Amino acid sequence: MKKETILVVEDEEKIARLLEIELEYEGYMVTKVNDGLEAFEAYKKGKWDLILLDVMLPGISGIELLRRIRINDQITPVLLLTAKSSVEDKVSGLDYGANDYITKPFQIEEVLARVRAALRVKAVEHPQEDESLLIFADLKVNSKTREIFRGEDAIELTPREFDLLVYLLINKRQVLNRDQILEAVWGYDFIGDTNVVDVYIRYVRKKLEQQNKPALIHTVRGVGYVLKEAK
Ligand code: CA
Repeated sequence: MKKETILVVEDEEKIARLLEIELEYEGYMVTKVNDGLEAFEAYKKGKWDLILLDVMLPGISGIELLRRIRINDQITPVLLLTAKSSVEDKVSGLDYGANDYITKPFQIEEVLARVRAALRVKAVEHPQEDESLLIFADLKVNSKTREIFRGEDAIELTPREFDLLVYLLINKRQVLNRDQILEAVWGYDFIGDTNVVDVYIRYVRKKLEQQNKPALIHTVRGVGYVLKEAK
């Protein structure tokens, strides 16, 4: 049987090492990273069955990393490691799609039990699903290789346009307002005009609707945008 892979993102070397030893002893393949930005690169390059994520990290925070992961990936379980005092981290972590959190200092047995539980839930809810492939109408997007096809035609998007399209795809047939899109794709700390959403929607549309292909992104006047089949 193939070993399950776990990405451990933790900057405290002692804790990271303990997690690595114990998880490997349980039969998992473990990769440790000690910085938020490096972790995002490792996440994109690898294939992970589960992510253990510390909140306080150099680079970008665990919460911001989680937000970036969840733009494209609703499936990989993420367990947050939070400081005992930080209720705020727990709440925003769950809001951003963490599956569970573990309070530090923890008992290693508790971590192992929660890892097992999260992997079990994933196995039941997403049996052998290819989480990187998003399909809608004649649009096919691979969120790992970042390849996009409309029918037989490959489409090239910039990284930001790509994130925008994936966010619309994950929330297909739901009307999304500019603030939601802005927060998901640009980040909650983005400073500037929500016009940027309209501009990028226009770029993505233009590329998707080459050769007179039917529109997939529709404007809902006074509200925002929705990805749905052409009428
Ligand atoms: Ca830390």
